[in-house]
Amino acid sequence: MRRNFAPWSDPNAKALVRFEAVTKRYAGALAVEGLNLDIFEGEFFALLGPSGCGKTTLLRMLAGFETPDEGRILLGSEDIVGTPPYRRPVNMMFQSYALFPHLTVFNNIAFGLKQDRLPKTEIAERVAEMLRLVRLDGLGGRKPHQLSGGERQRVALARSLAKRPKVLLLDEPLAALDKKLREETQFELMELQSRLGTTFVIVTHDQEEAMTVAHRMAVMNRGRVAQVGTPAQIYEQPNSRWVAEFVGDVNLIEGTLAANADGAILTDAQGRSFHAAASTSAEPGARIALAVRPEKLKLAHAPPTGEAINTIGGRVVDIGYLGDISIYKVRLESGATMKASVTNATRLAERAVGWEDQVWLSFAPEAAVLLTA
Ligand code: ATP
Repeated sequence: MRRNFAPWSDPNAKALVRFEAVTKRYAGALAVEGLNLDIFEGEFFALLGPSGCGKTTLLRMLAGFETPDEGRILLGSEDIVGTPPYRRPVNMMFQSYALFPHLTVFNNIAFGLKQDRLPKTEIAERVAEMLRLVRLDGLGGRKPHQLSGGERQRVALARSLAKRPKVLLLDEPLAALDKKLREETQFELMELQSRLGTTFVIVTHDQEEAMTVAHRMAVMNRGRVAQVGTPAQIYEQPNSRWVAEFVGDVNLIEGTLAANADGAILTDAQGRSFHAAASTSAEPGARIALAVRPEKLKLAHAPPTGEAINTIGGRVVDIGYLGDISIYKVRLESGATMKASVTNATRLAERAVGWEDQVWLSFAPEAAVLLTA
């Protein structure tokens, strides 16, 4: 990934794609509601969210297959809402990247160029360039059924890039690939995107995929953008309980704001106090939550010595061994459970934490994100 690439934090940078108060209804039901979003040139941008949140609808409006009921979609300075799909410098690679089975790889990639009546020599050059780009040189004469799933996916990618769109839209492009190939292809996509500098917008409901490939992502919920940011911002600084719970695993400690001077103090229903390093504009007494990721919880057989800040006792009720890490579910006295994840760095722990063990969970104030929404 390019270093120092962050046009979104430059107040003078102009967005390449801008959704302005965009609303789309299907038979009266809202699919996208008053949505605002800026995507910058050269970005690899991901739309992430649960099924039905409006990701595909947003992509289809950008491609021109759907028309918004309200709002504007700008590409550069031009409102493209009335522009038909084939006149937009935008191309879409579909979920089922169906290639024409009777055409060779070469002719699959050349298809759009032929429709545009480009000269033959230019078509041949472009296709050769695309084949090199997706590392399929020499396979131009094959038919799709003579290719592996990953190779077919790359042909589809070459086909959608052949016309050199300004923006490439990818709707679950890797859904048909198995896990290992999908991971490899994610890195290929990133590499390709940074080499071309073309703006990519990907729709996925696989959060690991979004976090791996994207410079920034928009987390969508019910037709709206819940949060936009880099994967690290969204993971480390979710702006609501909903985002915290949707992206990754999280422990939410609910309670009221007791004090708010040097950081914030939450008091839970059992009267326990928890400290967060950040302060908030909320008033004392407000309902708040602290979000703590499982990997930020320390798990031990004894309470931590020294200043016993943010410590909770409980009993291990479940252990999930995932190879690289283990997930411990700990039941607190209140009946609630918390999850801690521990890296399995050594093969034989001195005294491994086991089922039914009495344990102590602790976390630093800096590890807690204070949520008011
Ligand atoms: P998924 O991850 O399941 O593909 P999505 O986030 O892409 O979901 P959309 O396909 O954008 O969601 O759909 C948003 C909402 O609009 C859903 O409630 C869906 O049922 C509805 N919807 C989408 N297309 C149509 C259509 N052509 N006619 C009627 N309703 C539609």
